[in-house]
Amino acid sequence: MRVATGLCLAGWIGLAAPALAASSSAPAAAAASPEVRARFAAFIARLWPDAEARGISRTTFDAAFAGITGPDPEILSRTRRQGEFGRPVWDYLVGAVSPGRIARGQAEAARLAKTLSAIEARFGVPRWIVLAFWGVESDFGASGGTVPTIRALATLAEAGFRGTLFRDELLAALAILQRGDVTPERMKGSWAGAMGQVQFLPSSVLNHAVDFDGDGHRDIWGSQADALASIAAYLKNLGWDPALSWGYEVILPAGFDLARYRGDIAEFARRGLRRSDGKPLPGAGTGSLFLPGGLGGPVFLITGNFEVIRAYNTADSYALAVGHLADRLAGGPTLAAPWPTKAARLDKAGLEAMQTALRGLGFYAGEADGRAGPKLREAVRQYQIDQGLPADGYATPALLERLRATP
Ligand code: CA
Repeated sequence: MRVATGLCLAGWIGLAAPALAASSSAPAAAAASPEVRARFAAFIARLWPDAEARGISRTTFDAAFAGITGPDPEILSRTRRQGEFGRPVWDYLVGAVSPGRIARGQAEAARLAKTLSAIEARFGVPRWIVLAFWGVESDFGASGGTVPTIRALATLAEAGFRGTLFRDELLAALAILQRGDVTPERMKGSWAGAMGQVQFLPSSVLNHAVDFDGDGHRDIWGSQADALASIAAYLKNLGWDPALSWGYEVILPAGFDLARYRGDIAEFARRGLRRSDGKPLPGAGTGSLFLPGGLGGPVFLITGNFEVIRAYNTADSYALAVGHLADRLAGGPTLAAPWPTKAARLDKAGLEAMQTALRGLGFYAGEADGRAGPKLREAVRQYQIDQGLPADGYATPALLERLRATP
């Protein structure tokens, strides 16, 4: 999870990013009890010494909390809702890479061509990836969220949600106000503190956002140039390799040994792997095979850039949506292979059972959290290799049955 890099929370809170960006808050009028208000006021009073130590003035502090008298009950209820991690990747892609979004993104690419060229030149991140992030995070700036960030973060911090993470983010948000990048009134975002057109947490704004339009403010809310450049800066800072794409849809040759799923891209090509769009694979770099629907669905050769995208949001479906949307914005084709939409899938409880069983056999060391991510995929592959099965890393009901029968 992203506490280390700390950007969009969508993945580990368990909601898809667009749902977060579209959220809105109940009016402050939903009166809190005197006890709740007193507790909230005490929390803010205790925050002040730490804010002061970070160079935040009393004027900034008081302006930030002006009119905030209690937590936002709507935000607290959202933290208790069930996420959508169990949603199939193909369902997520339908919404995230829709024809309407592709058309809007291409129009933005034309309108902002000059800015995007300058961003590519400075950061080495392709415009299509930058646009895809912008599209998935806020529908190209149209839905950056309407929840006042200071109250949202104060609500989550005071409730102790995710330990001290939101208290730290609240202090970072105050630091942004102190710098004068934005006013408290304009500092808005999703209920979980991801802000503006890029849905960055405050710490990511401090660490990565850039002033690209040259007005002296890093304005990821109101400036498209700042928003786009901040996305590119974030990806560059996390290690985006300009020589490679995020990944490539590929076709496995007959008899391909899936047990060798990671290595030099040139070696994959020598073993007969081909891109499904007919273009050549890059001659250098490393990659690994990614089969988010198993052997019955599309196969991707992903690069380190895929992991850079995943640092923004750990969900596989999110990273694939950004990568594929980027390809489509660039004029690339739809995925060549169909998804196994009719095949039986494991639900969250099934994935937890799979994790528990794999852990019992020594293949899995993580939590049984029901999340199908890289850790579970790796464990499934090791089990499949051990059993002499094709190592696609895909957890299915049939595999769970077999695992339960394994002595
Ligand atoms: Ca600016």
